[in-house]
Amino acid sequence: MLNHYNMCNIINNFSLKEIHTFGINVRAKHFVSFESIIELKEIINSNVFFNNKSFILGGGSNLLFTKDYDGLIIHNKITGICILEDNNSNIIVEVGGGVNWHEFVMWSVSQKLSGIENLALIPGTVGASPIQNIGAYGAEVKDSIKRVYAFDIKKKKLKIFTNKECKFGYRDSIFKANLKNKFIITKVEFTLSKIPLNKTTYGAIQEELKDLNLSPSPNNIARAVMNIRIRKLPNPDEIGNGGSFFKNPIIKTSDFKKLQKRFPKIVGHKTSEEETKIAAGWLIDNAGLKGYRKGDAGVHNNQALVLVNYGNASGTDIISLSRMIQKKVLEKYGIQIEPEVTIL
Ligand SMILES: Cc1cc2nc3c(=O)[nH]c(=O)nc-3n(C[C@H](O)[C@H](O)[C@H](O)COP(=O)(O)OP(=O)(O)OC[C@H]3O[C@@H](n4cnc5c(N)ncnc54)[C@H](O)[C@@H]3O)c2cc1C
Repeated sequence: MLNHYNMCNIINNFSLKEIHTFGINVRAKHFVSFESIIELKEIINSNVFFNNKSFILGGGSNLLFTKDYDGLIIHNKITGICILEDNNSNIIVEVGGGVNWHEFVMWSVSQKLSGIENLALIPGTVGASPIQNIGAYGAEVKDSIKRVYAFDIKKKKLKIFTNKECKFGYRDSIFKANLKNKFIITKVEFTLSKIPLNKTTYGAIQEELKDLNLSPSPNNIARAVMNIRIRKLPNPDEIGNGGSFFKNPIIKTSDFKKLQKRFPKIVGHKTSEEETKIAAGWLIDNAGLKGYRKGDAGVHNNQALVLVNYGNASGTDIISLSRMIQKKVLEKYGIQIEPEVTIL
């Protein structure tokens, strides 16, 4: 039988420190990247894949490694942005899973297209964007995704998922649930609007546009969002982090009202008549933990939802910190907060 080991350039004992945003000093037993489906098929057919567990890596911005990875890390580097359809009101564009998400947003606004401008500066790849249905500043990627192309690892063939089949939810999709680790997203098709959507009501977008003396447009909204994010969030190139460490918990609106009596300043938004999403950052901040630091693991000074690695924290240091935070939040509010990041 043909041994593909050398054909797909698998590297042994590969340092992952520079390839994920938490900057934890861990290594992978094997590492390989692919730029096409042909290369991906080579990897899937290789002995190394057959003999090891494996994990698909995009930009590494939603991960926490707690130890060396004893298997094969497969890094998606499929590129390309290609317009498939262009009509009066919108375009359909197909984008390689390895394309940097923010670069795609910048491409979209440079074409005066609308839909994803509020998601500017989110780190990571286009291929990972459907996994947890990335969202920020009043927008979610699910509203722009038409179809997702994914490689079925077991059947070794491509499957196309319609938007509905992706079962998108808050920071969730079928790829994070039933189909977790079963498919590799190779490309994503987006519908982008030629008519500006101008979603400016969330957060401080309107104030930022006013300060910049700019009127709403896809490009200007992306600029405003970028400014706000740069002020609020730590840059992973400077301080290791994985963005929001915890999901915002969703509780019964009746329970939220009870909490509001005890904590009048608690921040929450109704997601339906019955349910309210609470700002986990507020819960952590109000528990006195913003800026808390133990060794090199800490809670960020400006954004309590973000846990940071000040330099030499290990993954287990970050996990111990996250458990302490979960315990304090549960004791104080009776709410169990859950990690948003994937923990390995
Ligand atoms: C500073 C900072 C700010 C952030 N802000 C936001 C925000 O505002 N909103 C938000 O939603 N998220 C945010 N995040 C989280 C993160 O950027 C997103 O979740 C992003 O989509 C992760 O992309 P990635 O390519 O880095 O995925 P990775 O971290 O590499 O992987 C994440 C998960 O997706 C899987 N995966 C990755 N690529 C593929 C693929 N092609 N096929 C199948 N599975 C795959 C991985 O196996 C893993 O389980 C932030 C992160 C940071 C560090």
